Amino acid sequence: MTAPDFRLYNTLTRKVESFSPADGKTVRIYTCGPTVYRPAHLGNFRTFLFEDLLRRAIELRGWKVKQVMNLTDVDDKIIKAASEQGTTIAEVTAPITKIFHADRAFLRIQDAELYPKATDHIPEMIEIVKRLVDKKLAYKADDGSVYFAIDKFKDYGKLSRLDTREVKAGARVIQDDYSKENAQDFALWKAAKPEDERTGAAWDSPWGRGRPGWHLECSAMAMKYLGETLDIHCGGIDLIFPHHEDEIAQSEGSTGKLFSRFWCHGEFLLTEGSKMAKRLGNVATVQDLRDQGVPAAAFRHFVFSTHYRKQLNMSSEALEGSIEGVRRIGDFVQRLAEAKGATPELEKIAADAEAEVTAALFDDLNAPIALGALFTFIRKANAELDRNGVDKRALETARKAFGRINSVLDVVPESVGADPEIARWVEERLTARKDARSRREFAEADRIRAEIESKGIAIEDTPHGTKWRLR
Ligand code: AMP
Ligand code: ZN
Repeated sequence: MTAPDFRLYNTLTRKVESFSPADGKTVRIYTCGPTVYRPAHLGNFRTFLFEDLLRRAIELRGWKVKQVMNLTDVDDKIIKAASEQGTTIAEVTAPITKIFHADRAFLRIQDAELYPKATDHIPEMIEIVKRLVDKKLAYKADDGSVYFAIDKFKDYGKLSRLDTREVKAGARVIQDDYSKENAQDFALWKAAKPEDERTGAAWDSPWGRGRPGWHLECSAMAMKYLGETLDIHCGGIDLIFPHHEDEIAQSEGSTGKLFSRFWCHGEFLLTEGSKMAKRLGNVATVQDLRDQGVPAAAFRHFVFSTHYRKQLNMSSEALEGSIEGVRRIGDFVQRLAEAKGATPELEKIAADAEAEVTAALFDDLNAPIALGALFTFIRKANAELDRNGVDKRALETARKAFGRINSVLDVVPESVGADPEIARWVEERLTARKDARSRREFAEADRIRAEIESKGIAIEDTPHGTKWRLR
């Protein structure tokens, strides 16, 4: 049997292309991580979920993954926050990093192999700048900072399709983020200002005290851990310019080699039609999902119900739809677990569903089609289970097919993974508690709550009913 094709849209070529890892075994992926000065918002997590989908689809395809996600723990915004709080960048970033990992775990985003921090890689960054200066691709300007000379690097603009005729030689930009219309020589190393020194954001270098520009950290950490040519580099669509364009310039300028074979970018999450962004103040966080009792499975379902290269608008109606959708998935899992047998027809239904889901996922991560196929499977399988068959093999095939489909989508609501006996007991106790409350017998309700919690089960009352999970 020939190995299935795995196709991905490559921003570099603007085409869906056939992908396989350079060494045939392990896919080396670099994913730009969060700037840890405020908890990541759900827009950021849409991008991280697209990357989670990518790594899980790659694993389903049978390849290994080595994923590096950096944590940006020094940049303009972090220094500003530390300055305002009269503290250091490390004190700003440490608690936010903790929240990031807890939020990521809540959304069941699988661990990357490495989470390197920018501040732990200053020597590697200085090394790249030295090489660029030696090659005359970078220069120290009279403001004491070192800049990349974009007109000296012939491929500048190849990712973002910048019209390089517009490039003004010698014009410089010191900020980390700027627009394509303002393509200029960008800062690799920024001369230290008093607030950098005060907040612990200054290091020694051959060009004096200073700190790295944002783009430089990703070149340094990607090449250190994944080699000079990566298989895939990912991020949100806003990173194409300038961040990824500048990463290419620094990396390819210093090594003379292709930096990444594939570039994959996820589209934005919107609220009320505009991009969710910290600076617009329209952000929702994972904590908001917890507070509103939206199960992680439902948020995953919501994100995956739109293709990653299309914009996705967040609304309570859409979230409600996803909550209902994963409830159906949960009921099905319970039913599969409790069934003793099935009709022989279930065998082919399950195999077809798995093949359809796999084909969709391997075709540029088409999760909406995969979810559609999953629901068709559930509908057909439920009809078969209604017929009370006794075929154990068909049932086992269905369980395994569901397991493989869900190994990528991971959309079963939290309480369902538990032992069905325990689940039934908890549901029964929760109903008893609800009845006690409606009779205003609060002492009894509290007693039931304590009884449930004494079994190592956490319960939480939310606008969508009482949720529970094993602690
Ligand atoms: P940041 O912490 O700002 O560096 O962003 C982390 C990641 O989230 C980057 O890959 C961004 O491209 C991505 N991102 C930022 N805003 C959104 C949004 N509204 N929707 C999807 N991805 C986003
Ligand atoms: Zn980056």
